[in-house]
Amino acid sequence: MRRITITTIPCNICGGTLGRVLINCSNYDIVTCNQCGLVFVDSQFDDEQLQKFYTQDYYTGKWEKVYKDYISEQEQRIKAFRARLMELRKYSDSGRLLEVGCAAGFFLKVASDSFEVQGIELSEFSSEYGRKTLHQQIHTGSVFSADLQPNDFDVVVMWDVIEHLADPRATLMEIRRTLKRGGILGLSTGNIGSFRARWNLGSWKLLAPPWHLYYYSKKTLCYLLRELRYEVLHLRTNGLYTYSKNRVCNNSLFRRLVRLVRQGDIMTVYCRKETNGESPNVQL
Ligand SMILES: [Zn+2]
Repeated sequence: MRRITITTIPCNICGGTLGRVLINCSNYDIVTCNQCGLVFVDSQFDDEQLQKFYTQDYYTGKWEKVYKDYISEQEQRIKAFRARLMELRKYSDSGRLLEVGCAAGFFLKVASDSFEVQGIELSEFSSEYGRKTLHQQIHTGSVFSADLQPNDFDVVVMWDVIEHLADPRATLMEIRRTLKRGGILGLSTGNIGSFRARWNLGSWKLLAPPWHLYYYSKKTLCYLLRELRYEVLHLRTNGLYTYSKNRVCNNSLFRRLVRLVRQGDIMTVYCRKETNGESPNVQL
């Protein structure tokens, strides 16, 4: 077992400062909190620093671990977002929708058939594309600079975004403030507890600092959401990323089994803003 050390930044869920280094990736220490188990990059970032990671290079294939070419893959992304919208509409199907981390606005475009939509995006490159080309209403910045009004949105979504944030906890609190009573939050992120990540973390595609700063499991994600008074309505996992041509991992039956036992690489969660009572005392 690895030695316990004092972390550079406090745990974003429980505030603990003791952790174990799991692995070093691209010169970043990836640690696990000794208290709650959250896995994170043990370095301090602010939005200004993060903004520099999301230039045109990020979206157009310069970095192996992120997008090949986000914009030219528009058609397949829109197809995937249509399926996602159908799933979301089981929980809410009209009203005002905010997408945090909307990139070029493909989901906004799809969702605008059902909702009145707005987006927030840190990247100047992609938010400008969304405004100019897709004619979407997108604020360049974070939830903290967007001047969000209380009890304003019926739905907030964050698809594959929470792992990129400097402060996910504060972001989820701000989202909670801007959601209406009983409003829905939908989000997706990687699953560090997945079969693939546990099998060989060093070669897991989603281990990608400094873009991916937080690595949740079902347990740590639900703990964070419940602590911030979101009622988790549904959580599913899917996906099995492989770098290698491993025959077992690429077998379709095996992939189905991984999904069935909820061991996939990506988690999708739908939750509702709790409106009554005190914050529940969630046990890990
Ligand atoms: Zn912790």
